[in-house]
Parts: sequence; C-alpha cells; structure tokens
Amino acid sequence: MFFSRGSLGTVEFAFTKRDGGRSEGNFASLNLAASTAPGLGDEFSDDPSVVKRNRSILAAAFDVPHIVAMTQVHGSDVVFVDGATVEAPVADAMITDQPDLGLLVRAADCTPVVLADPQARLIGVVHAGREGLVKGVVTAAVREMRRRGATRIQAWVGPRACGLCYEVPAEMADAVAAVVPEARSTTSWGTPALDVGRGVIAQLKAEAVHVTDIGEGVCTIEDEAFFSYRRQGKASGRQGAIVVLRPAGDRE
Ligand SMILES: [Zn+2]
Repeated sequence: MFFSRGSLGTVEFAFTKRDGGRSEGNFASLNLAASTAPGLGDEFSDDPSVVKRNRSILAAAFDVPHIVAMTQVHGSDVVFVDGATVEAPVADAMITDQPDLGLLVRAADCTPVVLADPQARLIGVVHAGREGLVKGVVTAAVREMRRRGATRIQAWVGPRACGLCYEVPAEMADAVAAVVPEARSTTSWGTPALDVGRGVIAQLKAEAVHVTDIGEGVCTIEDEAFFSYRRQGKASGRQGAIVVLRPAGDRE
C-alpha cells in the first residue's frame, strides 16, 4: 500500500503505490481516482464504488474519518480546507489546519508534494505536472501557507516520471525550460525531455523550503509498482499522497 510513510511532529504522511486495494485490471489495485479519463466511456474508468472502498482502506490505515481529494485541473489555485468542505474542491493544491482530516493528492506520472509546518500547524498537498510546474502551483501553495503563518515549511516530493523517460516535443521542452530551467532533460535515448520533479524541487528550494525527495531514483513509468499514464494509457489508475495533522499535544 505504502511506498513510503513518515511523520514529523504531529504531521503524518504517506505516498502510496499500486498494491493493497480492491480495483482490478489496469486499475489494480489501490486506485484512488474514479474518473481518470472523463468522457471516454466506462472502459477507461474504474468502478466508483470500488475506488470509494480503496479510499476507505487508506482512511482506515491513517485512522481518519474523512479524506478530502481535489478535482485536479492542472492549474495553480490553492484551496484552504476549513473542515466544512468534504466535497472535492477544484484545485491542484490545498492546505488545512484541521486535525485528523486527510488531504489526498493523486497522480500517475505527475509529481505529488506534501507540505507541512508542524509548529504553525499547517499542512498541504500539491499536484504538479508539466502545466502546474509552469504555472507555479508549488510556489503558490508555499506562499499561501506563509500568508497563513507558516515559517518553517518542509516538503516531501513523491514518485513521478523521471527525466530520462518523460519525452516531450522540443518546442514544449523549450517552453517549460524558459520558465523553469532546471526541468530541462534528455531521455535515455537522446531526445528532448522534462524532469518535472527536478523543476518542482528547484521551485521549493527557491522559496527556502526544506525538501526531502522521497521519489529520488524511482520512476512511475519504469516501475510497475506504480500507476503510469505514459505506460498504461488513458485507462490508468492513480496513486497518491496523504497528509494528516494530528491534534496538538497528542504526541511530540
Ligand atoms: Zn524513468
């Protein structure tokens, strides 16, 4: 179920992989997204009731009554979840100060990021693909946390497509590198590519965020322990990252 699970003070988080759920076929087994290819028909989508069970399995593993996931649109909007919101906000980053509320970000080859400032009691998740990288969604999330009082933000960057696999047209590589030079890469076969994870990490470091690269050396396209849009096509599931803020005083 978990590729990596960790904690920092009262903050607990994990990055998931494919195993441990109930979905079948391309979605086997811990698929966390019901509508991965909207409008393409049932064969491209997992059974929503099974996805709900998968999310319940994750909620149980973290002992949280609710998990909030976003309707991710490759944008840069940041939503603050105040606890009243249990429906999926349309955004690619969300922040909360609510204890025992799971924040979930989902990705196949995009970069999932967990943010936390345990002292300020603020946590967040970010979904950053190529478009989110260019639009600066990670930077926007960090700045929103600071605006709400965060001073020492830690980021964990999860498994994603690596820069040796994520081939893109030359013009696209140029356009992204014009905004985030660190994201420029070359595939193992010598063609233009992007390393979105490296770009995201550069953006975090530019904001003086302390970064732990959980996904270093891992590639969702190459490793079948993960879902991959590039490897599996439109009918692919989504892994995710979850973060939970525990009540103050619960533990050190
Ligand atoms: Zn790779």
